Amino acid sequence: MVLAATLLVAHPGDWPMVAGALVMAAAGTAVCAALWLHTSQFIASACQMMDQMPDAEAGRLPRTPVTELQALSKTYSNMASRWAARRQSLTKDAYTDSLTGLENRNSFSRSLTTALDRVDRNRSVALLFLDLDRFKQVNDNLGHAVGDELLRAVARRLLQVAESVTPGVRHGSVRVGRLGGDEFTMMVAGKDVEQRAMRMADGVLAICRKPIVVDGHELFANVSIGIAFAFQRMPTTELLRRADIALYNAKSAGKGRHSIYRAPLNEPDIDPAALESGLRRAVERGELEMVFQPEVDLKTGYTVGMEALLRWNHPHLGRLSPDSFIELAEESGEISRIGQWVLHAACRELAALKQSHEVAADLVMGVNLSAAEFLGPELLSSVRSALRESALIPSSLRIELSETVLAENLADAAEAMASLRALGVEVAIDDFGTGYSSLKYLQSLPINVLKIDKSFIDGMGKDERSNAIVQSILELGRKLGLEVVAEGIEARDQALALRRAGCTRAQGYLFAKPLARAELDQYLFDEQERRATHVA
Ligand code: C2E
Ligand code: CA
Ligand code: CA
Repeated sequence: MVLAATLLVAHPGDWPMVAGALVMAAAGTAVCAALWLHTSQFIASACQMMDQMPDAEAGRLPRTPVTELQALSKTYSNMASRWAARRQSLTKDAYTDSLTGLENRNSFSRSLTTALDRVDRNRSVALLFLDLDRFKQVNDNLGHAVGDELLRAVARRLLQVAESVTPGVRHGSVRVGRLGGDEFTMMVAGKDVEQRAMRMADGVLAICRKPIVVDGHELFANVSIGIAFAFQRMPTTELLRRADIALYNAKSAGKGRHSIYRAPLNEPDIDPAALESGLRRAVERGELEMVFQPEVDLKTGYTVGMEALLRWNHPHLGRLSPDSFIELAEESGEISRIGQWVLHAACRELAALKQSHEVAADLVMGVNLSAAEFLGPELLSSVRSALRESALIPSSLRIELSETVLAENLADAAEAMASLRALGVEVAIDDFGTGYSSLKYLQSLPINVLKIDKSFIDGMGKDERSNAIVQSILELGRKLGLEVVAEGIEARDQALALRRAGCTRAQGYLFAKPLARAELDQYLFDEQERRATHVA
């Protein structure tokens, strides 16, 4: 049992050594224990026999054999405890890094796996992956003895920082290990792991800026740190991989710093409870940001419109896409504050763009609203106040509503659209083709724009069905006097096929990804130049 468990957590390369050590230790202990048990039983029965004898007979028995047996028993007992200590020390060797005394790779990954198995709503795990900057130079220039001493000093400092963040290190929820070479790891498990991990990272960076004197040399052990969080269960290797990626980013960003693993957009590994409380403060803390994706004329490639897309710059999780938090915002009721912020920010930015770029003078800005915002009581007042504040004409704002919302709320949606149109604001059906797609509502709803969903565009030029659907939507749009925008174009042949089908407006990574405000400024400056040289 012990052997199997130990082998499971040991590095495969160490299996023969660990197995041998444990078998020997176990066998040794077992032999001693058996002898000791045997002897003690013998002594006990001898004593019992003597007790049961009449005093006179007992008095005639020589005492020596009993004394000898007692001495023998003591020897066996000593041997047994020496074997036990030996086994303990062998096990310790298998799990301790002999240079620094920290947990070694086996032991650390065992602790990490245990912590990851316990992750639930209230318990998360943070992993810090540390690597000394320029350690190789120390080793090469000053020798391995100095290098080893530096590693020992760093280990002491890591323990010191870990202890200051969570007292009781090594026994509790904080672990420090050395994976090998100049690679160290630290783990925080339980509650508040984000704050504790950040405090540890900051503490380590600060303490490592102080010089370490080794053998008369003043050395600096600057470290780079990669941090990754597990808010849901995941394999140990996955968390290590994430922390490793973050470490790589910290190194490429200039070393001597920490970097947090940035989850790719829409990655589901996000703790909803932590996200929800953060979302409540996101607006106040200025963590929300708008990015803008241009819509272009397929013939000229010039910008004819813009879509405002929301981003949440989460302090620890990085930049989050709306797909990972809009639903949560709807559930918690935060959506109305966020929606108002989006409307105001989008209108404010559009007004500023129109001021500073000639090519932006006639641009329309699309703003996405979720069902709750679109059908909520504050829609009109929010739109009015955003337009007023930015002094924009209403026709430069376009509200986008996903088609999937229409099926269940057709009457209410129609009413909301009618009031927006009455204001002079444009209305677009987003993700067209993925929801209700009934000709009846197209006829009755007061909409201006259809945005063909990316899933149909993906098949353009590749499969006949997508071609046919896109062509029909384009024709429908022409007949009903609607503007049709193709979404999500990534390849040149898609753009060509769309052009051939008579599509004039398109949006997608092929032309531009969603751009931060400064990038958009550059994009519009470049376009201005292109247009000027084209005319000349
Ligand atoms: P959407 O309105 O369909 O927005 C288009 C999404 O497709 C955007 O994702 C955009 O970045 C992405 N995209 C554009 N071109 C390409 C391409 O060529 N290839 C690929 N793979 N993707 C492309 P994003 O920004 O993550 O937005 C996702 C959705 O979140 C949006 O889908 C929209 O429904 C919603 N959303 C965005 N901003 C807001 C907002 O301010 N409020 C609300 N309520 N929802 C928003
Ligand atoms: Ca949209
Ligand atoms: Ca869409």
